[in-house]
Amino acid sequence: MYDVAIIGAGPGGAAAAVALGQLGITNVVLFDREGFPRHKTCGSGLSPNALKVLEKLNLLSEVKTKGYHINAVRIVTPGRREMVIKSDAAAIVCLREVFDHLLVQRAQALGVTLKTPFRADELLKDGDRVVGVRGFDGEELRAKVVLCADGANSIFSKDPRPKRSIATLMGWWDDFDFEPNRLDMIFDRSVAPLYGWLFPEGGRRVNIGICIDGQDESGEKTTKNLKALFQQFLQDHYATQLKTAKQVGKLRGHPIVYTTWIGHLTQPGSLFLGEAARLTHNATGEGISQAMESGVFAAEACARVLKEGQSEKKAWSWYTNQHRKRFTGAFLAGHALRAVVDSTLLDHVADAYNNPTVRRAVTRLLGSALAGSAVGVGEVKSALKEDRAA
Ligand SMILES: Cc1cc2nc3c(=O)[nH]c(=O)nc-3n(C[C@H](O)[C@H](O)[C@H](O)COP(=O)(O)OP(=O)(O)OC[C@H]3O[C@@H](n4cnc5c(N)ncnc54)[C@H](O)[C@@H]3O)c2cc1C
Repeated sequence: MYDVAIIGAGPGGAAAAVALGQLGITNVVLFDREGFPRHKTCGSGLSPNALKVLEKLNLLSEVKTKGYHINAVRIVTPGRREMVIKSDAAAIVCLREVFDHLLVQRAQALGVTLKTPFRADELLKDGDRVVGVRGFDGEELRAKVVLCADGANSIFSKDPRPKRSIATLMGWWDDFDFEPNRLDMIFDRSVAPLYGWLFPEGGRRVNIGICIDGQDESGEKTTKNLKALFQQFLQDHYATQLKTAKQVGKLRGHPIVYTTWIGHLTQPGSLFLGEAARLTHNATGEGISQAMESGVFAAEACARVLKEGQSEKKAWSWYTNQHRKRFTGAFLAGHALRAVVDSTLLDHVADAYNNPTVRRAVTRLLGSALAGSAVGVGEVKSALKEDRAA
């Protein structure tokens, strides 16, 4: 019998495993249906906030060595104005193949057992209490607590609410001429209220992608042709560089599942975390830092029960509250950001960007959006007002 079994070794599950190890709980098994290292469709961008979590997990210096450093963001507005925002709060692009493996290796070094490939098929129950996991091959493993971190297409989630998602399509190119250490966020009307991106990965390789709302206004699955939108986006923004660049592999897409009101994170004997709990940012699609933070909260909730003898009810309610306190403000602010993407606000901001007050407000807005904290759209609006009055 394990103390904790974790389904899914993405950033959520693996961070939970590392944090459990750090708390001295090592009778832990971490499953994944895939062997590591493994690919994951992702821009692989680690925000300043993700870097803070990595520091807690004692992995920051290694990720810094393996990743590509970003210290500027080029924003293109719907009216095709440009702002280049430099930031000391650097981000890092670290390929998921490398990054997720580093987390898993760190968990192993702390004494966690990795079991791959192991595809979890069903939760074992005693009444309504989860007591373990049955694999696709019939193998059963029992644990005092089961953490479900099986990502966007979670088969274990108990959240009855309709899924809201962001649809994505992305690709990789070599021999691509890009500005060193700078990423692009392109707020093109064709993908509003979301955006397109270019993330340099190092060498001469970039990943480029677009994300759009997965639903239309009535909540039905979008009927937009993502592939046609992407081809047009590439043509409109990167035609020159793509003439000489070479595409690497196929285009890939994957949904990003989000929520605004955090809930349905617990059941007796088990917790949901990361994207299995819909913890991504609705305006940026960021999910790595949220998944890792969620993993750290899950480890702390387990320690409350397993080490401190707190009742599960109390620990699980602490777990949900931690998430609400940490993410609800940012998720609400995400909607505010979405609401202005298709307006002329970003164009006005770009026009007024030379004004130091506007520049400061935008840097804060962008920094907080990337860091997943509350975003001051209001602050930018009042800075613009001041600029007009001056
Ligand atoms: C195109 C795209 C670009 C993105 N770009 C960024 C970005 O630049 N920065 C950012 O922060 N976020 C980005 N995201 C979001 C980010 O990828 C996810 O939010 C994040 O990976 C969620 O982490 P997780 O650990 O919850 O789930 P995942 O990373 O999805 O990990 C889940 C794990 O569970 C395993 N699994 C699933 N089912 C089972 C099962 N039945 N049994 C055993 N194992 C199972 C999977 O193999 C996987 O390893 C992007 C997403 C997409 C689609």
